[in-house]
Amino acid sequence: MRVVLRPGAAADATPGEAERLGLRRLLVVCGPRGADTARAVADALGPACAGVHAEARMHVPVEVADRAVAVARAAGADGCVAVGGGSSIGLGKAVALRTGLPLIAVPSTYSGSEMTPVWGLTEHGAKRTGRDRAVLPRSVVYDPELTLSLPVALSVTSGINAIAHAVEALYAPDGSPLTALMAEEGVRAMARALPEVASDPGSLPARGRALYGAWLCGACLGATTMGLHHRLCHVLGGTFGLPHAETHTVVLPHVLAHNAPAAPGAAAAVARALAAEDAPTALYELAGRLGAPRSLAALGLNASDLPAAAAQAAGQAGANPRAVTVEGVLAVLKAAHEGRAPGTGDPR
Ligand code: NAD
Repeated sequence: MRVVLRPGAAADATPGEAERLGLRRLLVVCGPRGADTARAVADALGPACAGVHAEARMHVPVEVADRAVAVARAAGADGCVAVGGGSSIGLGKAVALRTGLPLIAVPSTYSGSEMTPVWGLTEHGAKRTGRDRAVLPRSVVYDPELTLSLPVALSVTSGINAIAHAVEALYAPDGSPLTALMAEEGVRAMARALPEVASDPGSLPARGRALYGAWLCGACLGATTMGLHHRLCHVLGGTFGLPHAETHTVVLPHVLAHNAPAAPGAAAAVARALAAEDAPTALYELAGRLGAPRSLAALGLNASDLPAAAAQAAGQAGANPRAVTVEGVLAVLKAAHEGRAPGTGDPR
């Protein structure tokens, strides 16, 4: 795919990307909160814009996807531009999946969805996901200016969500020396950028470095099979309604501490990228320094839900370097629920 990354690119570069793809009637999709930004992109597209559809919602409910597909068909759209976070890009992917229309992504968070052929749809409370090259954006336009409005708290958790993609790529069964390079550099870039973003949220260079990290980490997510961490976060989000990026932030150090004995090379690569001795502790401390949540209790999960969550996550098929057992997942969940430092019995 083509990638453009520079300040101002959302309005400056999106029309050129559409033209390059031969597209003349693009439906712009976004969430209600991102409508102003999406309208700026729509204005830049001028007559090549077939409308703005601002109905994206978290986890792409199937009825939301149905409406967007109907709007795209009614408008005679020949392409789709998704402007926003993972939820907006997810809606664009649903339109691409159902209609075959090419997708251009203009991301405004660090979720990395724009780099993957993975789609998700939620029906009757259950989220189905799949892989289809039709949903992989043809062009991605990263514009650091779009992320200036991303609040620091969300920037931090979204950035650590990105780091989680790279961490699991490092021990994925289908990883390669190239994905390992991208993953280590992705962790390094994001972990350096986030403190800069937190201390100076208006810094375009820092925002640009965070998007570079998101690009790398998203590419790792698209190229490899994720493990226990993503499975567990999927259950906590899908069944227990926990917020996506925050949940990833809390869970990651604990899953890495659990998996590290079975994936010492991956843990060492993450430690190198973080310039630390112990990768799980460094991730836990990074979240703490940046004011991110560190316990599932703080995100509203009840202790009584832990056994059901552990059983559900352990019951799903999937890759992981260490055998996944209900007891093992429960231990990870208990530590994450209490917000203990990983690998210890102590809450800090
Ligand atoms: P999101 O898109 O729901 O955005 C989170 C919140 O941030 C929303 O309220 C949104 O309006 C707001 N927001 C987004 N950009 C903003 C900006 N620049 N300024 C101010 N506010 C802004 O959440 P997300 O974390 O980006 O993505 C999570 C979703 O993406 C989940 O549903 C997840 O499953 C999915 N996802 C999918 C893939 C994939 O490969 N398919 C990868 C990663 C995430």
